[in-house]
Amino acid sequence: MNKINYQKELDNLISNLKEGQVPSLLLHSCCAPCSSYCIEYLSQFFNVTVFYYNPNIYPDEEYYHRVKEQQRFIKEFPTKHPVDFIEGDYDKNSFYQIAKGLEHEPEKGMRCHKCYDLRLRRTALVAKEKGFDFFTTTLTISPMKDSQVLNEIGLSIAKELGVNWLPSDFKKKEGYKRSTEISREYDMYRQDYCGCVYSYNERQLFKAQNMED
Ligand code: SF4
Repeated sequence: MNKINYQKELDNLISNLKEGQVPSLLLHSCCAPCSSYCIEYLSQFFNVTVFYYNPNIYPDEEYYHRVKEQQRFIKEFPTKHPVDFIEGDYDKNSFYQIAKGLEHEPEKGMRCHKCYDLRLRRTALVAKEKGFDFFTTTLTISPMKDSQVLNEIGLSIAKELGVNWLPSDFKKKEGYKRSTEISREYDMYRQDYCGCVYSYNERQLFKAQNMED
């Protein structure tokens, strides 16, 4: 199947905005470094509210550290339109429920698809409840995430709940590279694993094996 260029779709949507039109956007963020470029880029065209909803994060200290970094970045980073912040629930059980039976899936596999769905669905519900014009996620910036799958999930939730999905593939146009530059500039904490206990264990194992070599 042909891949869709979701970044091009976003570019088209932005170029069709009327003069002076600044829609509201609920931007799900996985972490401050990934959000950096997305905020820099999107806040030129949208009134962005960052939604930090990541019940997948393990351990608790890591979760609170990532939230703090997210809030610090929003506070320190200058933007054309103001950026707000909402923290979602840290309801870890929701994550363990969807991960049941998928604990040994590799990264990008079915567990991750369900993890995307969990976080995007909650974002869409909040966007609907609060009347945002669009919702989207920073997750498409990561080379480790499948943007086609993320956009398909976002679009299907949007259709189901009646909220507008903002398509994206933030890693295009050097978005990922720019996020590493901003992260360095703001001396941000950059974690070395995706977030859940399974990705944490995988990373620890990898480090241990490489130390042995
Ligand atoms: S590896 Fe990342 S995307 Fe996949 S389930 Fe774990 S936290 Fe979610």
